[in-house]
Parts: sequence; C-alpha cells; structure tokens
Amino acid sequence: MNRKVKENYERLAQAAGLSMDMENGALYGVFAGYEILVAAANGSYPYTLSILAGVNRPAPPLTQEECKAFCKSVPGSITLTQNGNLVTLALKNTANQNKLRDTLVGALQAFTDFLRGNGFRNCCQACGRQELPVSPYYLGGAYAELCPDCFAAIQQRQTAAQSESKQKKENVVSGTVGALLGSLLGVVCIIILSQLGYVAAISGVIMAVCTLKGYELLGGKLSNKGIGIACVIMLVMTFVGDRLDWAIVVSRSLGTDFFTSFRAISYLMAEGAIDSGSYAGNLVLLYLFVLLGAVPTVIGTLRSRKQSAKVYRLGGQL
Ligand SMILES: [Zn+2]
Repeated sequence: MNRKVKENYERLAQAAGLSMDMENGALYGVFAGYEILVAAANGSYPYTLSILAGVNRPAPPLTQEECKAFCKSVPGSITLTQNGNLVTLALKNTANQNKLRDTLVGALQAFTDFLRGNGFRNCCQACGRQELPVSPYYLGGAYAELCPDCFAAIQQRQTAAQSESKQKKENVVSGTVGALLGSLLGVVCIIILSQLGYVAAISGVIMAVCTLKGYELLGGKLSNKGIGIACVIMLVMTFVGDRLDWAIVVSRSLGTDFFTSFRAISYLMAEGAIDSGSYAGNLVLLYLFVLLGAVPTVIGTLRSRKQSAKVYRLGGQL
C-alpha cells in the first residue's frame, strides 16, 4: 500500500471511529455495537470498499427484495448480499476522499441500523456461533470475523499446509526440462514475430512467463533456485532464438542452407556483412522485453507465496 492510500485510510478510519490494519489496510472495530470490517476487495482499487460483518439471525437469510430496498435507500451502496454468516455491503468507489468518507460513515450507520432492525447479531463467520467473542483476522489475502476456536483450527491447517509445501520436494531436473520446454515456446514466438517484421514485447514476455511456468509445472514448485535456473535458461534461449532468427534471414538472402547460415553469422558480423550495431540493438531490445515479462511474474510468485502464508489477528493478540 502506498503512502497516499495509507494516509487516506487513516482519515477514513478516524472518521468512522475504526482501527486500521497497517499491514494490509483494512479498517476494523466496533461500530454501533457490531464488529465490522471495511476492506477493498482488490488491492489495486483501494477506494472500492466493502463493509463486512459476521452476523446471522434466527429468521431465514435476507431476500433479494430486502437487499435491493436497502441499496435503494442508502446513497453510495451498490449491492448488499448475505452469504451464510457473512453480510457484505459493496460501496460505490470515488477518488474524492471527502465524499468517500461521508459515504462510508453514512453507509456504516445505515448498515448497522439495518442489521439491528432485522434481528442480526454478531457471530463467527465460519461456525455461526454467537456466544463466543469474534475478532477480525487476516487469512492469506482475505479478511474474516472469527471465533477463537475457528481461528485456531485455521491456523493449525495453515501450519500443516505450510510444512507440507516445505516438504514437497522440488525436482530440479524435471523443473529444468519444464523450463527448457517453456523457453522453446518463447524461441518459436521470437522467430515467428521477427519473421513477420516485429521485435515485439510479447515474445519476450512469453519467453519469460513460459520458462518460469514450465519450471513450476514440471518441477513441482518454483523455489528461488528454480527462479535462478529459469532466468539463466531464458537468457540463453533468447540469445539462441535471436541467432536462429538471423540464420533464417541469412539463409534466405544468401541461399545457403540453414546450418551453414547459422555457423556463418559470427563470420558475417566480423566481416561487417551483418551490422553488429543493429544485431546488438535488436538483442538488447529483446532482453528488455524478457525483463518486462520476468520481473512481474517473479514478483507475483514471491508475493503470493508470502501473502498466502500469512494469517494473523488484526490489531495483534489481546
Ligand atoms: Zn467459529
């Protein structure tokens, strides 16, 4: 979360009288007697907020008519849904912070009034029990209101899953084969697009993504070692792809066979028949595009590994 968003969230929390989870940016706390969570469903759209409450009632779940009537009467609300023990109110997004604050506070008031008026009481989102205290938790990318028992169970499962994934053996040989196969797709792409007359960003991106995914698919998981191996392979194979591409050009213009042409490239460059400047420029461009594909893929892999491993209670242990 960047600093600007953080500042705006702090102001939102203050206006609503809620606390803020510094790590992932959700707001939480008690509003008008209800344990509430306010979070963006997608971190890329921090101002598209939803209000969540772990609640249930003895009566049947909310009907569509009830939800629609609520949204009609509350400005800034888009949809109200009940899914088991979770009632979610999605809010309209706006970049105007004053408006967003007013919308949120107004919606929180209306939401909690509505819950009370319809006989809802706070409960654990997972087991639905009302008699236990519920607290807000972060569970590897999502938020939930849980009782201590359910959280303990989830934590236990998480620890088991983690040690299992740690034990899951990475097969470096298969992974390397996978990366090579993936990189061949990248080579084919480089050649085809180049023969059509483009040095396209897409071929570099495909090279990077397919090599990394190839490793993960056959190797079982993508460790740091795997990322390293895949990166070496994509660097080499990009060079090879570019060479093959030149060989096709040479064989077409000189009428020599492909293998002779491939071997002749260094000679032709030394003799100045192939302009080494344009050869290098082409290759550098291609490497830049590989980087363009590799960096977000690697960051995404590392981030999702980190995020999914994280479960904690918002505001720390009490
Ligand atoms: Zn529970």
